[in-house]
Amino acid sequence: MPVDTALILRSVNYRESDRIFTLYTRELGKISAIAKGARKSSKRFGGALQPFAVFETTLNQSRRGSSHMHVLSDAALICDNAGLGKDLLRLGVAGFLMELIREAAPEHEPSATLFDLAVSALKLLSDDLALSPGNLAIAAGLRILAQCGLAMSVTHCTACGTAVPAGKSVYFDALRGGVVCTPCGGGPILLDATAAAAFVYLSTHPIEDGAHCKIDTDTLRKMESTFDTYIHMQLEKQLKTFTYMMQVSGKNQ
Ligand SMILES: [Zn+2]
Repeated sequence: MPVDTALILRSVNYRESDRIFTLYTRELGKISAIAKGARKSSKRFGGALQPFAVFETTLNQSRRGSSHMHVLSDAALICDNAGLGKDLLRLGVAGFLMELIREAAPEHEPSATLFDLAVSALKLLSDDLALSPGNLAIAAGLRILAQCGLAMSVTHCTACGTAVPAGKSVYFDALRGGVVCTPCGGGPILLDATAAAAFVYLSTHPIEDGAHCKIDTDTLRKMESTFDTYIHMQLEKQLKTFTYMMQVSGKNQ
């Protein structure tokens, strides 16, 4: 039977005792799966079917021919990321990353890179008390979008490909896909040199480095708002989890 590793992107109750999950799995990508009896007995799935947990599972194709639904017959916890429960902002960022994958990843197109990226971002958020959750949200978010074919261009003009000069402010156009140089028409958002450089740093360094780099609060707010606009334009949808995350992070100051 096909064993896979999975993360829960969303879950809804179904009938009296079942739950239906949107999962991101390493082998199958984004799929829907039903866990029969999951609401009646949590023992059956070893308590593994929790938000932000990484678990191993056996997935079978549903017998109903046209349905794309898989059946989750068991689940064994690999990592529960329990540290997330201690901090509202970290929980908010984790929720945002899962919603971003849910909205941006195409169904049934597995990417081990995307899966591993999500797993390591959740683990960092849960266990690394020294990192900045706001930095991590953008650093991991930029990579998730790139893996889903929606890369936000911050190092080069999205129209002509010219490298963005270091230490300068830049124009940004969310609809056109990122930074646009002045000869190509610029854009409605002006990113000052500090915010532009921070975006470049987060998109070109490992997530862990980005999560630990120093970004002042005003710059991070500006970056969050720019990133929010970008996601909204690209997905044609406002992500509630990102709005929530920005509210919590504003209150934490
Ligand atoms: Zn250009």
